Amino acid sequence: MTERIGFVGLGIMGQGMAANLLKAGYSLTVWNRTAARMERLVAEGARAGESPAAVAAASDIVIVCVSDTPDVQAVLLGTDGVLQGAQPGTLVVDCSTISPQATRELAAAAATRGVAMLDAPVSGGSEGAAKGTLSIMVGGEPAAYERALPVLQAMGKTITHVGGHGAGQTVKLVNQVLVVGNCIAMCEALLFAQAGGVDLAKTYSAVSQGAAGSWMFTNRAPQILRRDWSPGFTVDLQQKDLRLVLEAADELGVPLPVTGLIFQLYRTLQAQGLGSEGNHALAKALEHLAGFTIGPA
Ligand code: NAP
Repeated sequence: MTERIGFVGLGIMGQGMAANLLKAGYSLTVWNRTAARMERLVAEGARAGESPAAVAAASDIVIVCVSDTPDVQAVLLGTDGVLQGAQPGTLVVDCSTISPQATRELAAAAATRGVAMLDAPVSGGSEGAAKGTLSIMVGGEPAAYERALPVLQAMGKTITHVGGHGAGQTVKLVNQVLVVGNCIAMCEALLFAQAGGVDLAKTYSAVSQGAAGSWMFTNRAPQILRRDWSPGFTVDLQQKDLRLVLEAADELGVPLPVTGLIFQLYRTLQAQGLGSEGNHALAKALEHLAGFTIGPA
């Protein structure tokens, strides 16, 4: 195993993804803005870098997994950023979910330094990151994809090269339109079941395995019934992804009326200080409109 890996951004997702690279036997150098979040991985055998530039200087492939577009721009282009330390021939793999247009611009900036880039956003939640079962949608040059594939396979199960720079991010945003559509359908259905006076646990059993079933319903409806709002994916990050969807849709001139409505409903949750709850807290926005709650009073 010759490629030395760097990892920048050890949040909910990055922790599990980086741990799986260590398990696969890769030499790993990590950096996180909040240094304490590096400790677990260092204890497991990773080296701590002083900065994103230092991580890049010590690595052949640098993986980035931070929050939003300006954050990726900061860790790649900033003083002490990845591109400051990267040698020509380095490959940068961005696993964050960010703007497809900004991704194309970052790939062009990297190319001027002889650095290749892939956008490789992920789906599968914190559970998928920890288990190494993520779906990873990859945009960029075929040769860079082939080079990154063994590394991506250490972190994910379904790896798909979907096109050129930015295509991975576009497909990730497609994924997010489906996620929130499934989420609002689940929340409306449970609210309707509550109003209809039926047993919610029996309703769940009756409908989750048929044509109405979904990952969202299977995994998050039980949480709603328990009124457990702990996040796999936070309201704030969900809102960020819907902003990216609506910006891209605006650039493309395509109407997404339902996604736009869901974006506004998530905003009501943020306005109430619920941004760190799980994305299934969308149920609370509908409960507020209906004037009653789902589950035990
Ligand atoms: P998270 O737990 O909030 O972690 C965010 C990470 O980004 C932290 O390491 C944070 O550092 C770092 N960061 C943020 N802004 C930064 C900046 N300006 N400079 C340097 N570091 C910065 O988020 P996450 O859930 O791991 O998500 C990471 C990415 O994966 C996001 O783009 C998200 O949309 C995507 N994603 C998440 C999930 C999920 O289920 N959680 C699923 C699929 C995709 P600090 O520790 O210092 O704050």
